[in-house]
Amino acid sequence: MSEDVFKKIVSHCKEYGFVFQSSEIYDGLSAVYDYGQMGVELKNNIKKYWWDSMVLLHENVVGIDSAIFMHPTIWKASGHVDAFNDPLIDNKDSKKRYRADVLIEDHLARIDEKINKEVEKAAKRFGETFDEAMFRQTNPRVSENQAKRDEIHSRFAKALNDSNLEELRQIIIDCEIVDPISGTRNWTDVRQFNLMFATEMGSTADGAMKVYLRPETAQGIFVNFLNVQKTGRMKIPFGIAQIGKAFRNEIVARQFIFRMREFEQMEMQFFVRPGEELDWFAKWKEVRMNWHKALGFGDHKYRFHDHDKLAHYANAATDIEFEMPFGFKEVEGIHSRTDFDLSSHEKYSGKKLQYFDPELNKSYTPYVIETSIGVDRMFLSTISSAYAEEELEGGETRVVLRLPAALAPVKLAVLPLVKKDGLPEKAREIIDSLKFDFKCQYDEKDSIGKRYRRQDAIGTPFCVTVDHQTPEDNTVTIRYRDSMAQERVAIDKLSDIISDKVSMKKLLKTIE
Ligand code: ATP
Repeated sequence: MSEDVFKKIVSHCKEYGFVFQSSEIYDGLSAVYDYGQMGVELKNNIKKYWWDSMVLLHENVVGIDSAIFMHPTIWKASGHVDAFNDPLIDNKDSKKRYRADVLIEDHLARIDEKINKEVEKAAKRFGETFDEAMFRQTNPRVSENQAKRDEIHSRFAKALNDSNLEELRQIIIDCEIVDPISGTRNWTDVRQFNLMFATEMGSTADGAMKVYLRPETAQGIFVNFLNVQKTGRMKIPFGIAQIGKAFRNEIVARQFIFRMREFEQMEMQFFVRPGEELDWFAKWKEVRMNWHKALGFGDHKYRFHDHDKLAHYANAATDIEFEMPFGFKEVEGIHSRTDFDLSSHEKYSGKKLQYFDPELNKSYTPYVIETSIGVDRMFLSTISSAYAEEELEGGETRVVLRLPAALAPVKLAVLPLVKKDGLPEKAREIIDSLKFDFKCQYDEKDSIGKRYRRQDAIGTPFCVTVDHQTPEDNTVTIRYRDSMAQERVAIDKLSDIISDKVSMKKLLKTIE
């Protein structure tokens, strides 16, 4: 999918009430977005899918909802005050600021793309006899590019791990990376920049206290670890899940809702016995990948990407990447965080955060596996996979959102064929009986064809049309979004037909 399609998706999101630029009438606020009447429904459904998959399917996972403001020392303990930094570089001609690591990653991705194109071309040429591994080794252009890539990649990983800002700059110079806007290589030095938003709380004689807007929801879970463990009588292994807003003063704020300054996370911290963490890491990787794949967008759209640079707290980390319109990008991170956070909070707070394990008959600081997914990135991956432009018979086209029915904002539209002869009343009656279970929409304006298009554009899986036969025999036509097939059914069958398809339960069952 191209950037062009991506632009279409962004304008579709606006046109149909999914996502608006924040403060639009004041010319917007950069990297902040509002969800509209359709967007909020889709977003809530995504959250429900995640929440239920955590707290319903796992007896030992419970949820919390912690405050956005937290004691400022928490961010000292977590490392965010000292180490939550991005390496930045400015182009002196365009005056634009970039993340140095992102510039290099993009450069690596371009080399990968070159290699893959070569391989694809050869695969086509040789057909079934094609031996890809052999080709990659022996083709001079491919192996040369691969060697170049590996060399840059290992320098890059080392520079990140050593926080060597000069070397990051040198890689950018050596790779002849140019500013996409000015096209020049006139770069400044690389500097670090803290991503947390700060504000002030209260006012005392000594002045106000500096507090931060949380840059992740995870710390709210760590500092409540003992509260939940004790009051919930939780036994290790167990998890705590949370959905909530997080804030980061992102520098490179582009690509729509992919990188925002205010966004929402769904995080789960799973507390385990020390030494068992890598088994649990493997288990959660699998569980989370299955959750994504159950949506049915195609398994080829997902991949794991193991981290080159492990964060200061982690002993294993991977991302689940999704094929966005602009390439494979991180949607979720899965990290083995050791006992870093709990130990650090013990140190800074002076309170014990240990667990007494009755089976081992001893106390220890649990290790933690974290799964952390951005709601907004999940929203973007969902809507961009669902978006399709189709040619219909007779030269017509339609835009359809092929959303999984359980996530669709509106489950069914009820459409009277005409605005008279008692058909609108009959349509309202149907809505009145179904509205307790499904989000319904009534529409009587324009031709039936136009009304179908509007519902396709917001991903409504079912359209129910009330016509002149309806008052006679209590039947309606039901039209299916994806196939556009229509069939005549009794009104009292509607509820069963719809609930079978839109059921969250059914979707959840396919994960297991
Ligand atoms: P990136 O490398 O893209 O900046 P990250 O590795 O810093 O992301 P994490 O700290 O692991 O991200 O956060 C977990 C998840 O939160 C990410 O996988 C992503 O889905 C989401 N997320 C992080 N930053 C943002 C943002 N600025 N806007 C939207 N979602 C975000």
